[in-house]
Amino acid sequence: MTGRVLVLGGTAEARRLAERLVAEGIDVLSSLAGRVADPVLPPGEVRIGGFGGTAGLVAALDGVAALVDATHPFAATMTAHAAAAAAVTGTPLLRLQRPGWTAQPGDDWRWVDSLEQAATAVAGARSVLLTTGRQGLAAFAGLSAHCVVRSVDPPEPPLPVRATVVLARGPFGVEEERALMTAHDVDVVVTKDSGGPMTAAKLTAARELGVPVVLVRRPPLPGGVPVAATVDQAAAWLRERGTTGRPATPSRP
Ligand code: NAP
Repeated sequence: MTGRVLVLGGTAEARRLAERLVAEGIDVLSSLAGRVADPVLPPGEVRIGGFGGTAGLVAALDGVAALVDATHPFAATMTAHAAAAAAVTGTPLLRLQRPGWTAQPGDDWRWVDSLEQAATAVAGARSVLLTTGRQGLAAFAGLSAHCVVRSVDPPEPPLPVRATVVLARGPFGVEEERALMTAHDVDVVVTKDSGGPMTAAKLTAARELGVPVVLVRRPPLPGGVPVAATVDQAAAWLRERGTTGRPATPSRP
């Protein structure tokens, strides 16, 4: 099977997969939602913006040999649309999703199922570091605690009443995270279980400072879709399906 690979992106893994496929001469189209004002673009062709639901994605799959859903573990709507559109069109679909985080000795983690439950869990805190991204902050709007809100782009209201906004893009180092938590006297951290090394330093810093962490569990994945945990595994899956680079131009006899 030669042909185009559509990579649903917005993650470091999606970017790395596109880099790999482009290097192998595979025709790759990366898709970004367009949420971040100044995204780090992958090599190869890129399209930006929603498809217009499952029907729009079905249309976009015309001429696509394989679909890789490498969106963020919490991009549940896009992941559901990918599964539905792949089923309608018969397009081979792979979910590329990095593993979640695992607690280590010394961690004080509390698991919750939603941002709303996270807000309830930190209701008695003094100073909260919110690293859940700028979407869904409304869940924390009723908190009276001081909230340090960190996101790539400025968050939109409603925000917690006493919010300090820190605009920053990962990866973050442990020293940097410890300094941020100490400077704001943070007594609890809230994060989604995003997994991966890019934003894991806050967990190490929290452990070292003895600060508890409230983690939001990942939404479930659609059934029947194979999952790759790494870019290597995703590239192998594409190879197994015969997705190859453009045939080399035949040399003259
Ligand atoms: P979502 O709730 O699952 O998706 C909402 C809608 O956004 C989708 O129905 C789709 O619109 C559009 N969309 C999402 N990802 C897209 C993509 N890669 N290409 C084209 N359209 C896309 O997604 P989300 O949680 O808002 O995340 C948006 C983007 O940010 C994703 O690319 C994700 O990988 C990235 N991201 C998300 C998080 C997070 O915590 N959720 C964190 C870091 C990065 P249509 O229905 O119109 O097709």
